[in-house]
Amino acid sequence: MALEEKREKRPPVTPMMIEEEAALRNGSRGLPPGPWAEAAGPRPRTTERHIAVHKRLVLGFAVSILALLAVTMIAVLLSVRFEECGAAADGPPRAGGNGSLSGVARQPHGAGQPPGRPEEDARGGEAAEEEEEEEEEEWQRRRELPPWARPRLPRHLRPLHYNLMLTAFMENFTFSGEVNVQLEVRNASRYIVLHAHRMHIEAVRVAEDKLAGGVRVARTFFYPQTQVFVVVLNRSLEVQRSYNLKIIYNALIENELLGFFRSSYVLHGERRFLGVTQFSPTHARKAFPCFDEPIYKATFKISIRHQATYLSLSNMPVETSVFEEDGWVTDHFSQTPLMSTYYLAWAVCNFTYRETVTKSGVVVRLYARPDAIRRGSGDYALNITRRLIEFYEDYFKVPYSLPKLDLLAVPKHPYAAMENWGLSVFVEQRILLDPSISSILYLLDVTMVIVHELCHQWFGDLVTPVWWEDVWLKEGFAHYFEFVGTDYLYPGWNMEKQRFLTDVLHEVMLLDGLASSHPVSQEVQQASDIDRVFDWIAYKKGAALIRMLAGFMGHSVFQMGLQDYLTIHKYGNAARNDLWNTLSKALKRVGKSVNIQEVMDQWTLQMGYPVITILGNETTDNIIVISQERFVYDSDTKPKDPARGDTSYLWQIPLTIAVGNTSHISSEAIIWVSNKSEHHRVPALEEASWLLGNINQTGYFRVNYDIRNWKLLINQLTRNHEVISVSNRAGLIDDAFNLARAGYLPQNIPLEIMRYLSEEKDFLPWHAASRALYPLDKLLDRTENYNIFNEYILRQVASMYLKLGWPTNNLNKSLVQASYQHEELRREVIMLACSFGNKHCHQQAATLISDWISSNRNRIPLNVRDIVYCTGVSLMDEDVWEFIWMKFHSTTAVSEKKILLEALTCSDDRNLLNRLLNLSLNSEVVLDQDAIDVIIHVARNPHGRDLAWKFFREKWKILNARYGEALFMNSKLVSGVTEFLNTEGELRELKNFIKSYEGGAAVSFSRAVETVEANVRWQRLYKEELFQWLRKSLTQ
Ligand SMILES: [Zn+2]
Repeated sequence: MALEEKREKRPPVTPMMIEEEAALRNGSRGLPPGPWAEAAGPRPRTTERHIAVHKRLVLGFAVSILALLAVTMIAVLLSVRFEECGAAADGPPRAGGNGSLSGVARQPHGAGQPPGRPEEDARGGEAAEEEEEEEEEEWQRRRELPPWARPRLPRHLRPLHYNLMLTAFMENFTFSGEVNVQLEVRNASRYIVLHAHRMHIEAVRVAEDKLAGGVRVARTFFYPQTQVFVVVLNRSLEVQRSYNLKIIYNALIENELLGFFRSSYVLHGERRFLGVTQFSPTHARKAFPCFDEPIYKATFKISIRHQATYLSLSNMPVETSVFEEDGWVTDHFSQTPLMSTYYLAWAVCNFTYRETVTKSGVVVRLYARPDAIRRGSGDYALNITRRLIEFYEDYFKVPYSLPKLDLLAVPKHPYAAMENWGLSVFVEQRILLDPSISSILYLLDVTMVIVHELCHQWFGDLVTPVWWEDVWLKEGFAHYFEFVGTDYLYPGWNMEKQRFLTDVLHEVMLLDGLASSHPVSQEVQQASDIDRVFDWIAYKKGAALIRMLAGFMGHSVFQMGLQDYLTIHKYGNAARNDLWNTLSKALKRVGKSVNIQEVMDQWTLQMGYPVITILGNETTDNIIVISQERFVYDSDTKPKDPARGDTSYLWQIPLTIAVGNTSHISSEAIIWVSNKSEHHRVPALEEASWLLGNINQTGYFRVNYDIRNWKLLINQLTRNHEVISVSNRAGLIDDAFNLARAGYLPQNIPLEIMRYLSEEKDFLPWHAASRALYPLDKLLDRTENYNIFNEYILRQVASMYLKLGWPTNNLNKSLVQASYQHEELRREVIMLACSFGNKHCHQQAATLISDWISSNRNRIPLNVRDIVYCTGVSLMDEDVWEFIWMKFHSTTAVSEKKILLEALTCSDDRNLLNRLLNLSLNSEVVLDQDAIDVIIHVARNPHGRDLAWKFFREKWKILNARYGEALFMNSKLVSGVTEFLNTEGELRELKNFIKSYEGGAAVSFSRAVETVEANVRWQRLYKEELFQWLRKSLTQ
């Protein structure tokens, strides 16, 4: 699953169609009859979509006649039987089946949406109540939680195979289903406990095999606290026998992007709907009753019945399609291999597709709305997907496991994408790309999301984590491989060695440097907590740890280890220790012995990371002192775990270290540091030589030195920076800025390092500087001496800005051919120049905007459009704002729409900013998923920070209702609005606000408080020191 990149501020979630909601509330909620009750004759139909299906029509016709006969017979039988049992059980203990074949239960369906017909307890109560009370007492006596009340499913049953038959009613957004689960009994029990949530259950039947006599169902009930459905039987299921559980149910195709949900788009002025699923992590239970934990791998055979104007997709290819006279069709999909429920998927839509085939014969299709397919917007994704499957097959030495892979581009999705096996789903902005109007950054985003989801076809789908505490295993790998896979597609881009540092390592060390962080491996039980584990710590720290591991193992041994791991565990589950063991064995084979589990447990089970301090000038005889401590931004904050305290944190650190002088750097040596403080001998340490730790920043930690060594490093950078590698130059910048921000280092050191940038021709150090400057800029941008800081930065940028100049808009040149490094460097420098107020940069932006307005032709170079729009809006009058607003409405290209909207937040005019904030909550104007970005961007603007903060507090109820369930969204909003608050007053407002409302987003808010406290502390302790140095430096 790919989350939305914070740096990219790209939208995700939840547009809520107000009119749809209304229609549902007012319209008929009576659900249509189930498939078994309908006797319909088969009739082959032609549709333009199912070309492959036509070839099978003859066979399909025959099969369907047989199926019809069988269905009719079963329908007659079943309808008789099901009519017998109209009883309902609502919630736990107050329940009662009629003791015959089935119990019927329904669950409260979420606020304000009573589903189905009114229910009542047919049994009238007393006998059932007595029975339940006895049962509860029995569990109490045993001092055990009843099996349905435990956070995890009881282990006495195991699903082997599911037959799932669905009918999707797109005209009223409901569906009905029949699931048959083949169960293996491990321990005898009277209870069947499985997940089911937000559905209406019509009938339940348990049999030793499908046709033989049933096991009588005593009663059934939902237990909403654990989202399970319980079938109580009259007798125990016997060990090592296999049973069939049949459940007939119906539910809504929700408007809330989880489970089986709907979404829509407009084509030729007409609104069209589609239904698609998002099951990860715990939402399959909203679409069918199932054992919804990753460990319960089973095979699935899915059939979907829908109107023939739609097509249906699932993990596997369609085997046969059976057409009916009344315009309905049933697609029967091939059986899946063993898999978990969370990456099962289906969709019902009227998309079209293009396809390609890999060397090994895997059919890859990209499905999207017909206009996008016609424009070719999916071609880029399709092309790289084919190449990437070939790459992964070669890298992992394990072939792709399914006959096909469909990529589905949907208008709305709660995440950037989801890796469903064989049917991966992407939000349109992350997969459709129009090369003529997309920037390199946009292309990079699309590429990396696809690389990520494809990696999951192996890491996640083929081999699945045992439980969610190790979600970082699959997400860390997929995130790390985003860079490795992109390097395969664009070998010159050096993503894994370079961009990984700024976008992953530096980014996550910001988060993980808070005392309120958490370990990458987090214990979770409750479904409501599981969403929480999908955060940047899991993704980015996971990836950074994997990169460190690959670094000290050596990449080829690491790769061999992964091949073994996938081969051993394919179609199964694995925990982190399985990986550590396989990797240790791989190391042993090449004659190295490291206990990987011991090393990695410290990194995955402890939160945070160390700062290593290397003292070189305090001892003689080439001896240096190396010490480690936990890095935290605000040393005043109390540790999250007070029993422990920060002093007890220790890591085994693979520290690489090199010695350099003016023209030469020694080859690195690896030192394992595991104590608080250690002495090490370093050869060839002369008077003028400097020490450099964490070579190429492969390690997940920061390095500090004595001031003398810092001065020597600065001197080296100024005289000849190329002696130090590009990644270490970026690393020194990021470490220095953050060490100073946390008070480990004087404030002038990072600003002195920056001075060498006027000679820096590589993109990465500039990018690292620009990112590190950003939070410092936000700490200062509302202070009265801001102009001193501003002036200093402009001086550092000026000469490189002049040297590089502006890009021209060469539309004929493909993005991919453009020199990525050069263009990105130029973009970075222009961004710094324009945002810190370089006059030439401002004029250039104004000229380009004026030209666009007067000619109505947009000739602004693609790669700097966002900078130009934002600068134009901030400098020029209200007419420009109105012009951009108009363009935002009229453009159809997703990438363009996004940067136009963000530009509107750059205005200095508080009235316009307020107007924009208020408009952002109108779903007709701004998609729900974009509203968060509008609010966050206004908060980044010094003229709008207090407006956004006030707006956020006033609208919190609405915002929380909208994004509450998508935890990731919510925490993005909370941190985005609060992270740059930095006054005592704002801190008080934040604390009061948290006190005044109850529940939800608690983790995000405690992080917010710590961040703002650290900001306030920095202002109090270090702001003056910084300004003093700047004043002195500017007058020199
Ligand atoms: Zn993922």
